[in-house]
Amino acid sequence: MKMDLPRSARVSLAALLALVALVAAGYARHRQNDNSAGQAQNRPWMNTSLSPDERADLVLKEMTLDEKIDLLHGNGMPGWGKPRPNAYLGNGGAGFVVGVPRLGIPIIQMSDAAYGVRSSAENGRYSTALPSNLASAASWDPLAACEYGTLIGRELRAQGYNMTLGGGANLTREPRNGRTFEYMGEDPILAGTLVGNRMKCEQAQQVIGDIKHYALNDQESGRNEVNAVISKRPMRETDLLAFQIGIAIAQPGAVMCSYNAVNGDFACENKYLLADVLKKEWNFKGFVLSDWAGTHSTVKASAAGLDNEEPFDHFYGAQFKEAVQAGKIPLAELDDHVHRILRSEFAAGIIDNPVKKSVVDAEAGLETARKIAEQSIVLLKNNSGVLPLDPAKIHSIAIIGPHADTSMISGGGSAQVDPPGLSAPHWQEHVWFPTSPLRAVTAAAPGADVQFDSGANRESAAALAKKSDIAIVFAYQWTSEGMDLPSLSLPENQDALIEHVAAANPKTIVVLETGTAVTMPWLDKVSGVVEAWYAGSKGHEAVANILFGRVNPNAKLPMTFPRSEADLPHPNLVTPPPGAGDHGTEGNERGAKPAFEVHYDEGLKVGYKWYDAENKKPLFPFGHGLSYTTYAYSDLKVKSGKETAVTFTVKNTGSRAGAEIAQVYAALPPSAGEPPKRLIAWSKVHLNAAESKQVSLAIDPQYLNVYDEKASAWKLVPGNYTFMVGASSQDLPLQQKVTLE
Ligand code: BGC
Repeated sequence: MKMDLPRSARVSLAALLALVALVAAGYARHRQNDNSAGQAQNRPWMNTSLSPDERADLVLKEMTLDEKIDLLHGNGMPGWGKPRPNAYLGNGGAGFVVGVPRLGIPIIQMSDAAYGVRSSAENGRYSTALPSNLASAASWDPLAACEYGTLIGRELRAQGYNMTLGGGANLTREPRNGRTFEYMGEDPILAGTLVGNRMKCEQAQQVIGDIKHYALNDQESGRNEVNAVISKRPMRETDLLAFQIGIAIAQPGAVMCSYNAVNGDFACENKYLLADVLKKEWNFKGFVLSDWAGTHSTVKASAAGLDNEEPFDHFYGAQFKEAVQAGKIPLAELDDHVHRILRSEFAAGIIDNPVKKSVVDAEAGLETARKIAEQSIVLLKNNSGVLPLDPAKIHSIAIIGPHADTSMISGGGSAQVDPPGLSAPHWQEHVWFPTSPLRAVTAAAPGADVQFDSGANRESAAALAKKSDIAIVFAYQWTSEGMDLPSLSLPENQDALIEHVAAANPKTIVVLETGTAVTMPWLDKVSGVVEAWYAGSKGHEAVANILFGRVNPNAKLPMTFPRSEADLPHPNLVTPPPGAGDHGTEGNERGAKPAFEVHYDEGLKVGYKWYDAENKKPLFPFGHGLSYTTYAYSDLKVKSGKETAVTFTVKNTGSRAGAEIAQVYAALPPSAGEPPKRLIAWSKVHLNAAESKQVSLAIDPQYLNVYDEKASAWKLVPGNYTFMVGASSQDLPLQQKVTLE
């Protein structure tokens, strides 16, 4: 077909076609990582009987300097700064690293995936939202953590990603931290075990795994400017221990260094954290990537052990090449960075089995999300057996709370998962998942008159509560990356709403949808409290199943709920000085020095260890969680000697089946200078009514050690240890002393 166009249009059309052809060729070059049999002969690294290290070295030998530099940095992030000319190669995620097409090395496509795969709305895809990471930690269950990771790994690949940016392992030192919901609570052994199992299983789906944010990014206020000051012993025994355990279990392909500084050096150029501890002591074989625009230098960062700058190339692009050519960065150092990246690609299987997009299995995801939510919801209070509700006996139910007719809240920031049917949310928009508590409760109690009041008018909510058999208030607290909470109080005057409703009907149950602990000035006036956290795509059904006893709750708190902020190690948040956060549009003008300090003087006393040591009574202690049955503990025996093991019996003394999370703590000898006790083991024991089981748990010797700062080594302090077993950190009926040497 002939087209009649003016000359200028013809010229620009030709230019356009040439550009399209160029882009298409580039696209095809990058998309084709043909590892077919013919190619494999010329590519000895495709021999799968070789180790990932051997395979990486074989590729490395073939690479040019430019190709090596290409692997050391990202290429921008959609919506942040200036789009790069090769932005079309991205998959809509948080960033990508170009591959080496001529050698069959694919693009690394990265997506955030804290509680599900991010950015599905803007990319026209679907993702399952699991309960928040903190919620999943309340299951105390490595198997549930594994299912969690498996689901996310599967959905990442289906959406065209081969690397996750999930796996938050920062300890809850500061419960007002807006990202508390992305982490696994306050205990290093619990958090490390769970994040490790989650990431091990996620990576088994053939995506490069990641554990973040290494380390001590324990508050969001001034996260790019803050210097966390802490001495080595508490650092190693608390925050770093969670990473150590998680990394040992998962062997993740990557670790993301954090924005903040630690003892003076930014985490992404901190030799102690990266080179000395992570790579040398822990023998981490993967690569370190910076948090987004968390790189501050070229030569210093490279020497300290940063392998990859994300999502830009301000320090690890042209500047890196120049530094290598000028001899400021040794070739061996460059090769080590590249080797680590390639090695992780081979180890995760993304080269042998390149990603092929497919349709996410939404049904399977929803089923997993519901099951995990049911194991994550903590029954905090249940006076005179108000729960479970019996639909045969209840005639009327008041459902009260903002949005309780339509939806439940979710956690924001880069963790945000988009709900189906809604458009892509803005940064820090409050995203309400279309999971209606009203609908789920109505379905669970078909014979009852279930009515709704938003609580906007307290008097009308109280009037509805008064005429109903039961009132259920759904209260929420929204949190997000990029902010900390001003306090642990519920927002929007919800405390007053709950007081009003409870005054009208003592059979009031509060269901909390929160990202961290909340204070509860109304606690004595309500009959029941259920902590549902951010409950994910099936949260409403999981909550209804718990309320009506179709599921017997068994989750326990992975963090302490304090009575008030005054009881926290830092009653006031430490905030940045004015003007501290201005770093240029792509964060490339970051100052060389942090602008303010937070001193973690509480040291080893994180979470329950603080409340124990300071004799402060929490509102709800670490490890607390009720059930619809009851349990009794007996017969503790501690075997010491070469290996330490504890044996005890748990009996279900109630009338229905359940699962009890039995916890083992140890008090170290006074000479160790430790807080009063630490968690060292636990087991989820499934028991039918009246059934007993003997539980035997081997104690990992590392979990009894302390870190000797002078010797830079872990050691056991000889002396008298007390082993304690029971239902929570404050309910330990079994105790036995032993001497360990
Ligand atoms: C967050 C990371 C995230 C990255 C990419 C940063 O702001 O701290 O957790 O992976 O952005 O979205």
